[in-house]
Amino acid sequence: MTTTSIARIAVPVPRRQAFDFLVPEPLTVRPGVRVRVPFGPRQLVGMVIAVGAVSDVPTARLKPVAEVLETHPVFPAKLFDTLRWAADYYHHPIGEVVATALPVPLRRGAPLEPRQPHSYHLTDAGRTFDPAALGRATVQKRLLALLHEAPDQQLQSEQCRQVSPSWRRAMAVLEDKQLVTMYPAPPVPAAAPAPAAPVTLNPAQRDAADAIIARLDDYRSFLLHGITGSGKTEVYLRIVETVIARGRQALVLVPEIALTPQLIERFRQRIDAPVVVLHSGLSLSERHRAWWSARSGTAGAILGTRSAVFTPLPHPGVFIIDEEHDTSYKQQDGFRYHARDLALYRAKLEGMPVVLGSATPSLETLANAARGRHQRLELPARAGSASLPHIHLLDLRRTPSDDGLSTPLVAAIRRRIERREQTLVFLNRRGYAPVLYCCQCHWHAPCPRCDAKLTYHKRADHLRCHHCGHEAQAPRSCPQCGHTSLINLGEGTQRIEESLGALFPDARILRVDRDATRRKGRLEETLRRVHAGEADILVGTQLLAKGHDFPNVTLVGVINADQGLYSLDFRAAEHLFQQITQVAGRAGRADKPGDVLIQTWYPTHPYFESLLAHDYEGFARAALAERLDAHYPPYTHFALLRAESPQERAAIGFLGYARKQALQAVRDTQSKGVTVMDPVPAPMERRAGRYRAQLLVSAGHRRPLHRVLDAWLRHLERSPRSRKVRWSLDVDPVDLY
Ligand code: ADP
Ligand code: ZN
Ligand code: ZN
Repeated sequence: MTTTSIARIAVPVPRRQAFDFLVPEPLTVRPGVRVRVPFGPRQLVGMVIAVGAVSDVPTARLKPVAEVLETHPVFPAKLFDTLRWAADYYHHPIGEVVATALPVPLRRGAPLEPRQPHSYHLTDAGRTFDPAALGRATVQKRLLALLHEAPDQQLQSEQCRQVSPSWRRAMAVLEDKQLVTMYPAPPVPAAAPAPAAPVTLNPAQRDAADAIIARLDDYRSFLLHGITGSGKTEVYLRIVETVIARGRQALVLVPEIALTPQLIERFRQRIDAPVVVLHSGLSLSERHRAWWSARSGTAGAILGTRSAVFTPLPHPGVFIIDEEHDTSYKQQDGFRYHARDLALYRAKLEGMPVVLGSATPSLETLANAARGRHQRLELPARAGSASLPHIHLLDLRRTPSDDGLSTPLVAAIRRRIERREQTLVFLNRRGYAPVLYCCQCHWHAPCPRCDAKLTYHKRADHLRCHHCGHEAQAPRSCPQCGHTSLINLGEGTQRIEESLGALFPDARILRVDRDATRRKGRLEETLRRVHAGEADILVGTQLLAKGHDFPNVTLVGVINADQGLYSLDFRAAEHLFQQITQVAGRAGRADKPGDVLIQTWYPTHPYFESLLAHDYEGFARAALAERLDAHYPPYTHFALLRAESPQERAAIGFLGYARKQALQAVRDTQSKGVTVMDPVPAPMERRAGRYRAQLLVSAGHRRPLHRVLDAWLRHLERSPRSRKVRWSLDVDPVDLY
C-alpha cells in the first residue's frame, strides 16, 4: 500500500485555520498550488499551504482533493510568505487572505494564464445583412448593429460584453448564420505614446533619485518628503527607468483617486517597457490579464491601488508608495490590511528598496524615520515656477456667517466668479462626530479619565468618552462661563451646496463626493468639466484633494476645519492637515497665485500656526509629543474588536463578555503592558438598523499584544456567544469608529 500524502489547504471560508485533505494517487501537490476540494455541499478552490504525512484528524475522516489546478506555485515564494505573515499579523483567515491576493477568475479556478480576448468581424454576408431582419433576437440584433457601426467593422470581447452578459451565446448564433467570424484579437498595440521630452531633474530631485538608485540591490526604506508639486513623480519615473534598464520590475502604488489617465499617460510616455494598471475600475478579465502580465514578467511597471501590493513579480526591483499617508491604503472591511505595511514587509523579504512618498507623511512614518528605520530625502521647493498659496483664517467669532458660509468667503468667491476663476469649497467629512462646545469661551467637555473629548449623543442626550467609556450628563449651559447656547459642532455641512446655489444662482456648481463618483467614469467627466472651465464652484470632500491639477482654481475655502481639532478620532487633526495641504496644493499657478481661506472658531489654536506657515514638520512634532503622552499610536499599538447586532444590547453585551476573556488571555499568556478598555458604543451607534459597539486593546509592544490577540480570538471563536453577533478584529485601525 502506498502512503497517501496529506495536504493542509487554505480554503476561502471565514475560519482562521487551514484544513487537511488527502492527496490520492496519482495526484501530487506542493505548497502554493491551487486545488479543488469538497467543502460541505460545495467544491471550493483552495491553496496548498503545506504537505505532510500526518494530521490531527483521523485519516479515515479526511476527504480527498478533487482536482489539482497547476503544477507550479501561483505566487513567488516571498509573496506567499508575506501572505502567511499577514494572516497571522491581522489574525485573519488564511484562506480569505489568499483569495484577496488572487484575481477573481483565479479564485474560481480559471487557468493562471488568461484567455486572450477575441475579436469579431463581419463577413461579406454580414455586411449587407439588415439587423432588423433578426426580429426578436434582441442581443443578436444589437451586436450586429454595433458591428455595422464599429470602425473596421470589428469588436473586441470587452465591447461585446457591454451589450449583454449573454453576448457569447448570441454571437455564437451569428457565427452559425455565417454573418460573423471570430479571430483571436491582435494584441492591442499599446499605441506607443510619443515619448515625452526628458525632464532635467533639479539638484534636490537628482540627489534623492541618486540616493535611492545607489541602493537598489537590497532592502532599504526611504521617506521621500516633498511638498506638493516638488516633483516627486519625476523622481519616481527616474527610479523606475533605472530599475527597468536593469531588467527588473517596479510596483507603484497610488491612492485610488490619484490613479488618473494623466498619471498613467505620464508613465507610458516615459517608461520603455509595458506599463500595466491595476485598479477596481477594470473588468475582471482586464485585471486578470494585467496580473498575468506582471506575473509572467512581461510588464515592467505596475501602477495600481491598494490591492496591487499582492501583484506577483518574478523580478521585483522597487516598491513605490505615493501619498503613503493616504488612508485608502488601509482596507476597511474583511481582511483589514494596510498596503504600505505589507509592502514594507514584503520588500524586506524580497531584498529590495521601498520609497514612501508624501508631502505630509503619516505620523507613523515620521516616527519610524526618526528611529532610523527610513532614510529621509527632502524636496523642499516646488519644481515648476508656481508658489505656495497664501493661507488665511476667517475668525467665525467676528465675522457673520450664513448657513455655514462666512461673509468674507462669500465675497472672495464672488470676486473669483467675476474674474472667471474657479473656487474649490472643501468639506471635511472625516472624524465627523458631534461635540458640544461653547462659542464664548471655547469650553468643550473633556474626559476626566483620558486625554479625549466627550462625544454628544443626541438620542440619549448625554456625553460619552469613546476611549474609556466614561459617561456624563450633557450640560444645559457652559460650566466654565455660564453661556447658554452650547453648539453641537459638526452639523449643517450638508447644506453648503444648497446655500451656495442660493447665493450664486447663476454660478455653475459641481459636487464631487463618494456618491457623485461611484459610477464608472463620473469622476473623470467631472474633472474634464472643471478643466474645460465648465464650472465656477466645486464642492467636495477629500476626493478633490488629490492628484489633480486645476490651473484655474485660485481660491480654496475650507468650511469646517474645526471638526479636525475637536474630534474623538485622534487622527483627525493629522488627516485634516494632510487634506488642507493637498487641497491647497491644487490652487494657484505662477501667474495666478492661490488663496486658501479657512473658517474657524479657534483662530488662536496652535494648530493653525503651523498650517499658516506650511509647517507640517512643526505640526507633526507637536502631534507626536501629544501621542506619546496620551499613549496613542505610533507609540502604542491598537487593536479594535468591533461588534454589531440588530438587538440593542447584544453587541455591547458580547463585548463585555469578550473583555473578560481578553483579561483572561492576558493572564494566561502572562503578557505585560497590554491594556483592555471597556466596551463602548460606536460613535455612530446605530447604522443600517444595527447597534454597533467596540472594544479597544492596546499595548506598548506588538509581541505581547499579538500573543494576547491570538489566545483571545481562539477562545472567542469557540464560544457559542460569539455566534449571536457579527464581530471582527481590526489590527492597527485607522479609525476608531
Ligand atoms: P509631485 O508629484 O511632487 O506633486 P510632480 O512630479 O507632479 O510633483 O511635478 C509637479 C510639476 O512640476 C509637474 O508639472 C512637473 O512636470 C513639473 N516638474 C517636475 N520636475 C521638474 C523639473 N525638474 N523641471 C521642470 N518641471 C518639473
Ligand atoms: Zn463657555
Ligand atoms: Zn475617557
